[in-house]
Order: sequence, then structure tokens, then C-alpha cells
Amino acid sequence: MRQKIACKLCNSFEYEIWLKSAEGFNLVRCKNCSLVYINPQPSARCLEEMYKNQKVFFIGASRGRIKDYLKNKSRFWGAAQSKIKEIEKLFPHKGKLLDLGCAGGLFLDVARDSGWDVQGIEPSKWGKDIATRYLNLDVIQGTLQTVRPTKIPFDVVTFFDVIEHLQDPLTELQRIKSVLKENGLLVVTTPNIESFVAKALGISWSMITLPEHLFYFSPETLSKMLKKSGFKVEKIETRNSDIPYNGVQLIKKFLGKGNKELRFVSNEGVEQMTSNANVKQRIGHIIGHWFYAVAWLLPYFRQGEGLVAYARKV
Ligand SMILES: [Zn+2]
Repeated sequence: MRQKIACKLCNSFEYEIWLKSAEGFNLVRCKNCSLVYINPQPSARCLEEMYKNQKVFFIGASRGRIKDYLKNKSRFWGAAQSKIKEIEKLFPHKGKLLDLGCAGGLFLDVARDSGWDVQGIEPSKWGKDIATRYLNLDVIQGTLQTVRPTKIPFDVVTFFDVIEHLQDPLTELQRIKSVLKENGLLVVTTPNIESFVAKALGISWSMITLPEHLFYFSPETLSKMLKKSGFKVEKIETRNSDIPYNGVQLIKKFLGKGNKELRFVSNEGVEQMTSNANVKQRIGHIIGHWFYAVAWLLPYFRQGEGLVAYARKV
């Protein structure tokens, strides 16, 4: 059953259709607060079915990948290390850190190595199994709605690329607040719907992965939602993704060969594009990489494809 919903940020029913899908799910923009979301929304059961067997975290993709990771961890640590360094600028004394939706536990592994006392919550069995069995991490299977982490209260909660997947992001932020210490730090990352690439590509943007992403935020709507749930926003930055796919899509769009219709795709489609490509596709990726190299400038204009928000519990 699909459900028509009111805006989860301002409760308004007034919206305009931003992208229309052949399957009947539309991406709409709230006329009152500009939040972008799928309406009608897929049912909880439909989402559950979709996530049951999905493996989106690279070190959990196969046994071989895990062995590669364990053999040479530092090769995989780049992005996670820069995330923890940014957090430590705001929280230099370290302490207890909870990663919500920690998948196979890569970020927790890096944070632990940097001196944090870490715990993870992960809804998927495969992610929890990898994190506990291979990385010896303290990870509980479930969500903040169904389980209670044992190291409460936390100094820092990280919430990387999860909020856009949730049916009720505002309530989840309030749950996070309840497990944080006073003045504790929440770090949220999510795609930036107001970015140059999102606007230029529309339905061809790689972050339009539906129905996985139920909500799309801009710096303004994310900031409003954090404030509404009881946080003081310290800063919101934008960052670039390193997916050459979008470079290829920009070229196609420029040549008038972009996608014309919104289709429901999953992350796997993008993954296949980048890992199991044939020669022609690989050449396209190289050109895409080169073309996309100019994108490093975008975050300087707050136009990066991803948002990173740092907020304190008040
Ligand atoms: Zn709204």
C-alpha cells in the first residue's frame, strides 16, 4: 500500500511535483518549506523486503573483500579517517561514539583506532555479523526504535547517509537526542538536493536511488529539521562524491542523451556501472572522471553533492 503523506518537516499538504515516475511514485517539493520527498511513500513492508538482502557496504560485499580489508586496512581508511579528524576538531577530548547504521563497521574500526570508545547499531544481519565477527566491534542488530545501546549517554553520534532512508526522520533525530550527553555532537551526512549536479542532472543524478531515498535535503531543510528536533546547528558543509557516473551523465545530458524518465533504481545499478563495466563503459568512466574533476570547486560555492551537518544537543 502506498501512502500519501504530509510534509514531515512542516506538516503541510501543499506540494508541487518535481519529478514524476512511471511507477506512480513522485518526488515532490513542499510548497511551504521546500523539503523534497517521495509521495506517495512505499509501505514499511515494501522497504523491509527491499533491504532484507541488500549489501551496500563494500567490505561486506564478499569474503574476498573482507580479506583484502583485513590484510591492508589503511588502503580503505581514507574517507573515514578524514571524517573522524573533522569530528575531533570539534571534540578533541574524544569519548563515547555511536555510529547509527554502521553497516560492516569500517568507520567504527577507524574511530576505535583513533582512541574512541565505540558502539554501533545496524539493522542488517550481514553488517552486524561482519562488524562483530571480523572486526571484533560492539555492534547491536536493530534500530534506535527497537534496541537500546548499552553505552548511553554518548559524546558523539554519527549518522552517515541514513536519514534519507527513514520514513520519519524527525522522530529519529529526537531519539538520537535522547542518547546524547548535554552538548553532545551529532554528525549527519546526506545528499544535497540543492547542489549543482542534482539540479543539472535531475532524474539522472546518481543519488536519485528510489525508493531507497525517501527524503532529499538542502542545507536549509536539514538545518530546519535539526533545529525542530532540539539541536543547535554548528555548521553545514557540502562535499563532493567521487562517483564518475555523474560525470558521464553530465556529458550525456550535454549531448541530449540523458534519461528522460524517472525509474526506480537501486544502488546496485550504480555499483555495476563502476565495477563490472565493459570497455566502452570504462572509457566513458575515464572521460567522466576527467570531466568531473572540475567538480572539486563546487563545495567552495556550497554546491557539493553531499551535505555534512554538525549539530549539538541543547
Ligand atoms: Zn514542508
